[in-house]
Amino acid sequence: MTRPTILVCAGHDPSGGAGIQADIEAIGANGAHAATAVTALTVQDTRDVTEAIPVDPGVFQRAVDTVCADLAIAAIKTGVLANAAQVDHVAALKRRHPRVPLVVDPVLAAAGGGRLTDDSVGQALVEHLIPLADLITPNLGEARRLTGTDHDAENCARALARLGPDALVTGGDGEGPDAISTLATRDSEIARYVTHRLADGPFHGSGCTLASAIAARLAHGDTVTTAIDRASAYVHACLKSAYTPGHGQMIPDRVNNR
Ligand code: PLP
Repeated sequence: MTRPTILVCAGHDPSGGAGIQADIEAIGANGAHAATAVTALTVQDTRDVTEAIPVDPGVFQRAVDTVCADLAIAAIKTGVLANAAQVDHVAALKRRHPRVPLVVDPVLAAAGGGRLTDDSVGQALVEHLIPLADLITPNLGEARRLTGTDHDAENCARALARLGPDALVTGGDGEGPDAISTLATRDSEIARYVTHRLADGPFHGSGCTLASAIAARLAHGDTVTTAIDRASAYVHACLKSAYTPGHGQMIPDRVNNR
C-alpha cells in the first residue's frame, strides 16, 4: 500500500491529547505518513492551556521548505497557526502547490478557553488562507469568530464557504443527544453528519483527530464527502474507546482504531 505524506503545521500539546501528537496518530491510523512542522509549543494539561509560545518564524519556514523539498506532499493540514506570518507562509506554500489538498482546522482557543494564537490570526486566516483551502473544519465557536456573527451552524458554514472552501462546522462541542456537523460546499450544497453524542464534556483533541483523518483520506484520493464520512466513522470509534490519562478531558483512542 502506498503511504501518502501529509504535511502537518500545528502546535505541540505535551499532554499528548491534541495538536501534533493527535495528528500523527490519526494520520498513521489512516494509512498515511505525517511530516510535522511545529508552529507553537504549549504548556497545558488535559484541562486547559496556560501558555502558547510560537516557534521562531524562520525555523518554521525552513522546516516547511526543507520537508517539501524532500518529501512528495499529498495533502496539507493546519492546526494552530500561532501568528499571521505562519498563516502567510502556509498560504504561499499552497499557492506553489495548488493541486495539493489543504485542510485548515482554524484552531483559535483550547476547549478550556486558553489562548493558542495571537489576535491577528483570525483575520489572517479569513483573508489569506481560508480562500485557498479545500476544506475548513471549525467548531461553532470558531466559525462564529471567523464570520464575526452569532449565526447557527448552517449559516456560518454557508458564509465561510462563500470565501472559497468547503466548510464543515463540527458539532462535537454542542449539546443534545446527537453531535451534528454541517457541511456547506462551495456550490452551496448542505450536508449533515449525525453521530450519537458519547459524553457531555469535550474530548481533548477530537477536532485535530477529525481534520487529520480527513486530510489522510483526501491524500488517498477520496472526495471531500467520502473523506468526511470515513473520517467521522473513524473519530466516532476513537471516541467510543476514549481514555482518561489525566484529571481532565478524555482523549480519543486514535491508535487502536482504523
Ligand atoms: N492544537 C493544540 C496544540 C492544542 O493545544 C489544542 C487544544 O488544546 C488544539 C489544537 C485543539 O484541540 P481540539 O482538537 O480539542 O479542538
